[in-house]
Amino acid sequence: MDFDDLNYGNMDFGLSQNDNIGSKFYLPSASDCMRCGLCLNSCPTYSLFKKEAETPRYRIRTIDKILNYNQAITTEEQEHLDNCLQCRACEPVCPSKMAYGELFDETQRQLARPPSLLAKIAFWFIEHKQWLTRLMPLACIYFKSGIWKPLRKSGLLKRFGLAEAEALLVEPALHQLKPYYPSKTLIVRGRVGLFTGCIAEHFDRDTLKDVVNFLTTIGFDVFIPTEQSCCGAIHQHNGRSAEQLIGNNLKVFSSMQLDAVIYTATGCGAMLNEYRHTDSQAAESFTQHLFDLNDFLLKQWPEDLKLNPAHLKIAVHEPCSQRNVLKNQQTTYKLLEKIPGLNIRSLPDNHLCCGAGGSYMLTHPENAAALRQKKIQLIDDSNADLVASSNFGCALFLNKVNDKVIHPVRLLARQLPSKS
Ligand code: SF4
Ligand code: SF4
Repeated sequence: MDFDDLNYGNMDFGLSQNDNIGSKFYLPSASDCMRCGLCLNSCPTYSLFKKEAETPRYRIRTIDKILNYNQAITTEEQEHLDNCLQCRACEPVCPSKMAYGELFDETQRQLARPPSLLAKIAFWFIEHKQWLTRLMPLACIYFKSGIWKPLRKSGLLKRFGLAEAEALLVEPALHQLKPYYPSKTLIVRGRVGLFTGCIAEHFDRDTLKDVVNFLTTIGFDVFIPTEQSCCGAIHQHNGRSAEQLIGNNLKVFSSMQLDAVIYTATGCGAMLNEYRHTDSQAAESFTQHLFDLNDFLLKQWPEDLKLNPAHLKIAVHEPCSQRNVLKNQQTTYKLLEKIPGLNIRSLPDNHLCCGAGGSYMLTHPENAAALRQKKIQLIDDSNADLVASSNFGCALFLNKVNDKVIHPVRLLARQLPSKS
């Protein structure tokens, strides 16, 4: 496949959100860790266990053994490495500029452990999104028929290792999104492609509908290619090749004459930005046209658009992918300031992961639940009416306990003036 045949539009949207992320970054070796400990208080597993073995520097030492010395590691070292949420909160505070995420992914590739049968099935569905879509009616029947009640009681879900995934399920949207939504304005400002991810398309439909509504209201044609795939994050962070998924997304979006590709979930965005490391012109062009929704809306905000006021107390949750990778968490606050009357506050301890951690909530349910409980306590203490979070995975996980977390675009869309 030749992904060098590019087909993007030429609209100048100013600097892309990727300006926050250096295209060529310094990648220190794991042996560059100075053992200074400055990363300890940012690490969620250290906050849980208060043990040296659950610190970034202990994991860096294990990674050093694997990558630099090709040494075997103990079961205990493996376990502590696996406990890592890959939140990358240890990166911004590290004086050695340790690229922990890169080192961790490389370690996973080298360890190349065979996945369990369940994991194999999950990877297969992620790779074959059309089959994932075909499962949705079954998920709907599952909820509507009430069969989940006896099934949960029977213990069968636990026995087959499905209890954690089942507990996270919400009723999915069944119908497909349209491939094209035209601008609602007379003058079209540009053509944008919407990246919807693998499961958010069905499980976060309300957010996507609001994104489409907002973008078309401010003058953009919105395209949602059905052939797009998962961003590849779950594969990459589990030592599997994401090449096929990346290649497909580059091919699909490159062929559409788009002025911008927009993602709504920062977890996907962090991975989509990694495409820059794919050595092709298509990848370079893709990432140049790639925008975080919040960034895009701020840059393209129409001068005459005034939102209706809302008198709500909003706490802002900063997802790890937004804070530690994209480093654009300020856009959430700036965007919410567009709504007059909001009382906007940062959620305390935003540097600590909520426990979701991509697939971590499935693989390490106890640690994930303990971290979530800390976050829920902070949400409760904040007395916020709602919590704004730009990552679908965090919202899904937190909302299972406290149904207050929504994407900031949903708040904006509610306040659009009725003539819009
Ligand atoms: S902050 Fe960086 S250099 Fe210091 S212990 Fe942590 S990983 Fe090592
Ligand atoms: S990525 Fe997160 S969980 Fe893993 S060592 Fe760093 S701070 Fe701790």
